[in-house]
Amino acid sequence: MAQMTKEELFKQLASLRKANFAGGGRSPYKPLLVLWVLGQLKNTATNTFVYADVEQEISQLIDEFSPVSNNRYRAEMPFFHLERELWELSGNGEIGPKRSILRRNNATATLKSEIVSLLTSEPGLIEETARFLVETHFTESYVEPIFSAVGLDAGVIQFSSFAVSVDQKKRDPKFRSAVLIAWRKQCAMCGYDGELANSTVGIEAAHVKWFSQGGPDELENGMALCGLHHSLFDLGVLGISQTHRILVTDGFIGKSEASKRLVYDLHDTELREPAPNKPMPSLDFIGWHRTEVFRHDVAS
Ligand SMILES: [Zn+2]
Repeated sequence: MAQMTKEELFKQLASLRKANFAGGGRSPYKPLLVLWVLGQLKNTATNTFVYADVEQEISQLIDEFSPVSNNRYRAEMPFFHLERELWELSGNGEIGPKRSILRRNNATATLKSEIVSLLTSEPGLIEETARFLVETHFTESYVEPIFSAVGLDAGVIQFSSFAVSVDQKKRDPKFRSAVLIAWRKQCAMCGYDGELANSTVGIEAAHVKWFSQGGPDELENGMALCGLHHSLFDLGVLGISQTHRILVTDGFIGKSEASKRLVYDLHDTELREPAPNKPMPSLDFIGWHRTEVFRHDVAS
C-alpha cells in the first residue's frame, strides 16, 4: 500500500463532517471516534478494537460532547460507518450497523496500518491530528476538554498548520474587530469590558453557529463574550432563547459564590443590546445553537 501523506489524511478527516450535513445538524460521532482512537494509539499503541470492549467508553465520549439523544449505545453508528479508507472491519459473519450484530459477531475494527505508520512517523503528529479534528468539527473551546477526555496532552501542539490549507473556507480577519465594536467591547452576557493599555483584554468574538459548521463571519452570527462566557456558550452550558434571554443548562454544577454570580444568576436574564443599528444574533443561528450545542441535560 502506498504511503499516505499528512495532507491526504487531513483531507479525509476534514470530510467526515459531510455526513448528515444536509440537514444542517452537526455530526460529531465520527470525529469523536477518531479522537478516541488517537488517544488509544498514543497511550497504548493499540490500533485494533473489539466492539464489545470499547462500546461503553466511546459511547460515553459521544454523550459528553454531542447534543443529547436517547440512544445509550451511540458507539455503534461511527464504529460501523467510519470510512473504510481509515478503518477496516472484520468479524464472524456479516457485520451491520446494529449493536446486537456488532456484539454477536465479535466485530473488530483496525485503524489502517498506513495511517498508523504515518501518525507515529513524527513526534507530535498524533496531537496535531487531534487538534485538527477538533478545529474542523468543533471550536477551540473543545481542545482542552476533549484532549483530556481521550488522554492526550493539548500542550504538545498549539495549532494545526494544516487547518487553513485543507479548509476551503477562509476566515474573515475583520470579524473580530467588527463584532467587538458592534457590542461596545463588552461581554453580551455579563457586561465585562476590561482594557489594558487601550486594548480590549479578555473579550472575544464568538460565533453563534460555529464556523466549523458553516456559520458565517457576519454580525448576525456574532457576539462579544468574555473568555468564560465564550467557553461556556461553546460548550453548551449557556444558550439563548428565541426572545434573546440567557439559558443555563440544568446539568451545570458550580458550588461557589462565584459560580452563582457568573453563571446561575444569568439564567433568564436578557442578553445585553449591541450598539444602535447593530443586529442582535439572528434567530436562525440562535436556534441552531440551541438544538446542536446547548445541553438539555436534566439535573441528576
Ligand atoms: Zn461575560
